[in-house]
Amino acid sequence: METIIIIFVGLLGMVLGSFYACMGYRIPNKIPLTKPNSFCENCKREIKWYMNIPIFSYIFLKGKCAYCKSKIDPLSFIVEIITSLLFVLFYLKFGLSTNFLLGLVLTSVLSVTIVSDFKYYYISDRIVVLGLLFTLAIIHVEKDYFFEKIISAFVVTLLILIVKLIGDKVFKRESLGWGDIKLLFFISLSIGFYSTLISLIIACSTTLIYYYLSKREEKEIPFGPFLLIGALIVLFVMPSYSVF
Ligand SMILES: [Zn+2]
Repeated sequence: METIIIIFVGLLGMVLGSFYACMGYRIPNKIPLTKPNSFCENCKREIKWYMNIPIFSYIFLKGKCAYCKSKIDPLSFIVEIITSLLFVLFYLKFGLSTNFLLGLVLTSVLSVTIVSDFKYYYISDRIVVLGLLFTLAIIHVEKDYFFEKIISAFVVTLLILIVKLIGDKVFKRESLGWGDIKLLFFISLSIGFYSTLISLIIACSTTLIYYYLSKREEKEIPFGPFLLIGALIVLFVMPSYSVF
């Protein structure tokens, strides 16, 4: 039975991951999610369903379009793997529990944001709000300290906001985007006060490492995915929730 659940959770991650990557591409470009069907960026031909199976199609087609042989952006493939892997990891660690569900919601927001923020420097408000609503529902079911958790999320976000405003003045440029602040409110509701601060430190360190390794030319670095990765690491390693 356990093996069946693990396979199911992994497959769910694959299918949702594929959908999240699609959202990450389409929301910033204002393309509806359902129409048109997936198509090749290069030759614009529609991708048939059997060429659009998460993870496997990319491997089978060797990362190239079946018609024009142009390279397919590997980001969808990477997102499908990450989503599936994190879903399974959180299940193995927490079983069917609230921490598992919080992990799924964080992973889902991460998967959309990886594509939208890396490709278009865009964090979708709709996705963050959806994540927030799911998180509210989960912590409401848990019943412990429901209102305290909401107040705590406001306090930690306010603290970070003050640091941002000081940072903006000191560095004379935007130190932290408004999208990141909204994301932090969602994260703090999900993992609590101290965990949010720790995930912020992890996010800053991994961003710096990424900046040096990637040697990106542009000054603007997508910070959203790193914040979410930090939050997922903290939730996974030290899942206890601190209101204050
Ligand atoms: Zn093509």
